[in-house]
Order: sequence, then structure tokens, then C-alpha cells
Amino acid sequence: MSRLRRSVLEIVANSPLGQNMLRLGRIFFELFAQPPDMHVHRADLAADVVAPDRVEQRLARIYAVGIAHQKLHEVEFLRRQIDRHAVAQRDAPLGVERDAAMLGKKPEELKLISCHLGNGSSVTAVDGGKSVDTSMGFTPLAGLPMGTRAGDLDAGILQYLMNKYDMNIDTMLDILNKKSGVQGVSGVSSDFRDLENAHKEGNERAGLAVDMFNYGVKKLIGAYAAAMGGVDAIIFTAGVGENSASQRLDIASGLEFMGVKMDAEANNVRGKEAVISAADSKVKVLLIPTNEELMIAMDTASIVKG
Ligand code: AMP
Repeated sequence: MSRLRRSVLEIVANSPLGQNMLRLGRIFFELFAQPPDMHVHRADLAADVVAPDRVEQRLARIYAVGIAHQKLHEVEFLRRQIDRHAVAQRDAPLGVERDAAMLGKKPEELKLISCHLGNGSSVTAVDGGKSVDTSMGFTPLAGLPMGTRAGDLDAGILQYLMNKYDMNIDTMLDILNKKSGVQGVSGVSSDFRDLENAHKEGNERAGLAVDMFNYGVKKLIGAYAAAMGGVDAIIFTAGVGENSASQRLDIASGLEFMGVKMDAEANNVRGKEAVISAADSKVKVLLIPTNEELMIAMDTASIVKG
């Protein structure tokens, strides 16, 4: 795609009206503009950036589910959806290039942990420009507790709750997808701004929901640093990641042992690219706004045009 077209798309995608136009355009494009035998499925994901040759990725792909006659490749298939959610959330590979550019390095030289924290949330480990693990799983229900999704839980709880409340699996999953997460814990809202306000007004459950979410992100950062054998930079993106200085601080606090040192003043920023770690922080912390619509539109256009 020419630079001029890229720039035009970027301008369009940066305005609210433009973003809606892009959404609509995408739908029409998918419905009408392609030859009947061609279907470009570029959901908010980037399967091209995963690293199938990496041992960590193989391990990250496996669900330890034992079903009679099931072969290892079938077990792996269950978690293969990892490709579908990987880095997704943010705009790899362009996003990874952007992160690397901000650090003055090439993507191949970096171990990154990308925290996409919004209504849907996930954390992704990116080693050498490739995603090696991500917190979402067979479906986006896995990983962090989100706006309304429960995130990871002990599967045993399904049987307990279904028996206790006489629910079938569809009702159970509906609750886990649409009524759980910080909404379920707080009983207030799925919107983190509402939770912050409610907490300030003394609602303990709202505070608990935010703390639980932040704790989940912190644990994943630790886990992925261990999986990659280190981390050069942590990236915050999406609604919460870009806007909530207090949540970013809370997530990073306690990570000093692994070389993360925030700059409270630099962190006092929202919605724009910034380095928010201290100058002497061994691990850099970046804020990089996400722009999923633009990336989806650009990827789709370049795939269709060949
Ligand atoms: P996204 O899914 O990326 O559009 O993010 C949406 C979420 O970002 C909303 O549910 C809000 O909870 C959160 N959000 C947006 N602005 C703020 C803010 N200033 N502080 C905390 N959370 C925010």
C-alpha cells in the first residue's frame, strides 16, 4: 500500500467518525467487494505473528484435557486458538515494530509483554517479534477477568454452580461471558471509570474488582517474563491501559525486583505514546495507543490486493 494511502487511512482512522466509517466499510467490504471464493478473515488478531517453531509456544498451546482416543495434536488444537487471539488485541506486527522503534531497537532484539487492557483484556508475550504466549485461550473467555468475562477459573466450579442454581451449560456460559468479570465482582459496572468513582464513594466491591483485575495483570507479567527468560519492555494499551494512570502504577508496583521502575510524573499521561518508566528502569514501560480498526482495514486491503 502506498504511503499516501496509508496516511489517508491513518487520518480517517484517527477521527471518531472515521472509525465508524472504517467499521462500516469493513462490513461492506467483507460482504460485497471480494470475489465469491475469497474470504479474508482478519478479525482482531494476527496469526502471522505467532512463533510455531518455538518450544514455549508449543507448550502454551496445550490443554491437559484427557478424552479417550484423543491424540496429542487434538489436544493442541484446543488451545490453537491462541493464534487467533495472539497480539491481537494490539496491532502486531505493526504494533511490535512501533514498540521496537520507540526503544530504538529491532523487534527481533526484544522481549515484550503487551498488556491490552480494555473491556476485553489480555496479556501477550512477544519474543523477537513473535507472540509466544497469550492469556486468551480456546475462546476469549480465558485469562484475565474482564469487563463482563470471568477469565480463568477452576472448571470444577461449573459443576458446583450448575448444580446449586439448577443451570444448564448455556446459561452458565452466558453468565461467565456477559455478567461476570469486574461487573460481576463489583455489582456496579463493567466500566472501570464507574468502578473508580464508586470506590471513591466507598463501594468496597468496586475497589476489590479493580484490585483483582490489576493483580491478574501483574501475575501474567511475571509469568511471561519467566516464560521468555526476561523482558525488555512492558506495553500498556487499550481503554484502561491508555487512560488509567492509577491502574498502571498499581500493576507495576511490586515489579521493582525484576527491574521495573515507574516514573509517576511521566505516567500521568493518557492516550498518547509515551515512555512511562524512570530513565534508569531496566525494563522500559511504554504507553502505546491501540488502533485496531486501522490495522484491520490495512491488513484486509493488502491481503485482497495481494
Ligand atoms: P476498550 O475496550 O479498549 O475500548 O476500553 C474500554 C474500557 O476502557 C472501558 O470499559 C473503560 O472501563 C476503560 N476506560 C476508558 N477510559 C478510562 C479511564 N479514564 N480510566 C479508567 N478506565 C477507562
